[in-house]
Amino acid sequence: MQATQIKDERTAELIAERIASAKLNAVFVLVFYWGGKSFFKTDLSPLAYNSPNDSDLFAYFIEQCHNRGIRVLARFSNGKEGEKGGEGILTENPQWQIENKDGIKARWFDLGKREVRDFQLGLISELLNKYPVDGIQLDYIRFPSRDYCYCEECRDSFKRIYQFDPLSLPYALPNRFWINSTPLTNLCGAKLLARFDNGVPAITIREYNAGYLLLFNWQIENSSAHLFLDILKRAMEGKRKIYVLSPGAEVGYDENGYGLILQILRKANLKWEMMKEVSECNPNETLLLLPALKRLRGNLDDEIKDFLNAGGNVIVSSSEQGLEEARGYEELLGICGRGRKFRGNHLLIPLQEHPLIPVLLGGEGERREIWEKWVDFRKEIITSFVKELYDNTKAIKSSLLFSAAVFYNKASAEKVMQDWYRWLDMGIVDFAAPMAYVDNAHLVSALREWKQADPNLEKIIPGLSIYEVKNGREVTKDYKKVIKQIELIRKEGARGFILFSLPFLSDDLAKYLSSL
Ligand SMILES: [Zn+2]
Repeated sequence: MQATQIKDERTAELIAERIASAKLNAVFVLVFYWGGKSFFKTDLSPLAYNSPNDSDLFAYFIEQCHNRGIRVLARFSNGKEGEKGGEGILTENPQWQIENKDGIKARWFDLGKREVRDFQLGLISELLNKYPVDGIQLDYIRFPSRDYCYCEECRDSFKRIYQFDPLSLPYALPNRFWINSTPLTNLCGAKLLARFDNGVPAITIREYNAGYLLLFNWQIENSSAHLFLDILKRAMEGKRKIYVLSPGAEVGYDENGYGLILQILRKANLKWEMMKEVSECNPNETLLLLPALKRLRGNLDDEIKDFLNAGGNVIVSSSEQGLEEARGYEELLGICGRGRKFRGNHLLIPLQEHPLIPVLLGGEGERREIWEKWVDFRKEIITSFVKELYDNTKAIKSSLLFSAAVFYNKASAEKVMQDWYRWLDMGIVDFAAPMAYVDNAHLVSALREWKQADPNLEKIIPGLSIYEVKNGREVTKDYKKVIKQIELIRKEGARGFILFSLPFLSDDLAKYLSSL
């Protein structure tokens, strides 16, 4: 149940009475959720209800339950912030949120961040020290999906161990992209970093005194946008700005003339400034981007060389028509000779390791290997936090029950990187409560899986649903269906069960439960 169902002392009594009438011996009360708010008194987070006379409804509810022989386990949402976001602790600390690959944050606590873990440890300690609860249950102790967390902190800790940024994984070379190119073909001073599968140079670099010029020998399209952005961000290291050169007021020299590239920068939330003169760009703090060299008029060769020699980085990409009008710039680019136009799906093959391009010399095998490590790394974030919370709880009082509500089988738990079978092996939960809100067939196969890990179901207490969804609404489930599932798990030796959730407890079901 959610603690917010306790409106006042009267409802606290009624709820406790209702639980007692069904002869249930414990209740799990969600006390931290609702946009990062607590139902218990603490200075660490906002309170989830108004208490005009400073009453403590949670303390009163615990007392009511204990008077009736019902144990109270405080349930705590570790990941999900809860529906009613807007003024909770996560709003006060937006940096605590998880991020996806595109840098978009989600309303979910990032359990990979030390600050978040310390906050939750503090909050739970306070709860356990202040209230005579019988234990604690973690909920949403996972990531929402494998799309998280790609924040800088999580990626950096992975990079420190494996020397690879997981963000680069999907685009790292070798890789296939949709390519539209009217290429330059002969190297005359530049080094080849990657080539296409048809042998044509794909990415080249020409080094200058302190700077370099990097050439994408095709038109950056949506297909290769992530690779381009990845390389651009590497080239930005230590630089503060992106300048787009737009010299003079000639036709095609407005933002529209750069079309797709600027759209890509905008989508990636990268800021840039349009510059008219090369001389206005400071090579120590800028990166000069020339998405369409062919648009340049006049001879900027010497100016760009000065910029490069002074430590500036220049990135050039081909336009739709290619670089054929880049005559006079061959020497600057270090590549010349126009090749035949080609379009289609092409493999980009890296020729050497280079800090500017994400490379997996081991190809697909290595990509899979690193991906698995990245999944394991994120599972370990959750597992190590469960261990911290377990140790912390037991240090406060060893008799406190410590449990976690988890995805009901291995296949579903894998998707959210919740390695709870391992938690059982490590002994860092007293019991796991798989949320088996499923039909009988799935329950039977889950029981088989649970018994493989825990033959006597000593540490697995199944959670069953007593609600069902009808016409998009949650309604009380036919009690006969619930009884069928209770019989099913008891036959397999389950020591108990958890019903989700209290508001859906019917009189018929309560009567049956009290007869057990
Ligand atoms: Zn993170």
